[in-house]
Amino acid sequence: MRKKLAGILAVKGIQDSKVLDAIETIPRHLFLDSGFEDHAYQDKAFPIGADQTISQPYTVAFQTELLKIKPNDSILEIGTGSGYQTAVLLHLRAKVYTIERQQELFKKTKLFFGKMNYRPRKVVFGDGYKGLPKEAPFDGIIVTAGAPSVPKALLSQLKVGGRLVIPVGVEEQTMTLYTRKSEKEFEKQELGTFRFVPLLENKN
Ligand code: SAH
Repeated sequence: MRKKLAGILAVKGIQDSKVLDAIETIPRHLFLDSGFEDHAYQDKAFPIGADQTISQPYTVAFQTELLKIKPNDSILEIGTGSGYQTAVLLHLRAKVYTIERQQELFKKTKLFFGKMNYRPRKVVFGDGYKGLPKEAPFDGIIVTAGAPSVPKALLSQLKVGGRLVIPVGVEEQTMTLYTRKSEKEFEKQELGTFRFVPLLENKN
């Protein structure tokens, strides 16, 4: 089923073979509550509790591809959620720092990483709007919730050459890629419309 899903994503335009390999390898059904395994290998988002969703596999693959990860890149993820996107980043051999603002999900997913032997560098309970200044700068930052605007803190925590992939908008979001060209210059590219749960301020 995973192979088939990777095939569907390739048809939809995902080209990076390492990203497709992650989709083929990672057991997405284990990131859903038991009883919902049947839904795991459809290209769909799915509720994971606390009013949140595991992103659609296509969206995960699309955002990951835009990061152009090299082994040992330092990547910050905002919105740990189920941990599936985190696992994809780890599969690409990134050093992953991930932040979640919902305590219930944070605790559950942190435990799950332990059980599965997934090893992010840090799983943080906090507000992703602020980024993670102590661990900055990053080669890449990925935001997995819809941001009403682009948090300045995240742009400032990119290395020169680093990339921020962020869905921007309220009702629906424009996938936006910022590349830091120099200390002061950022290039911005807009790459289509998606729908995410909202990026909320403060932790809960
Ligand atoms: N990457 C996740 C997607 C989860 S949905 C996955 O693959 O399952 C988005 C997540 O972002 C939710 O868990 C939500 O609680 C979290 N979130 C929303 N606003 C946030 C913020 N300001 N900081 C950190 N996490 C946030």
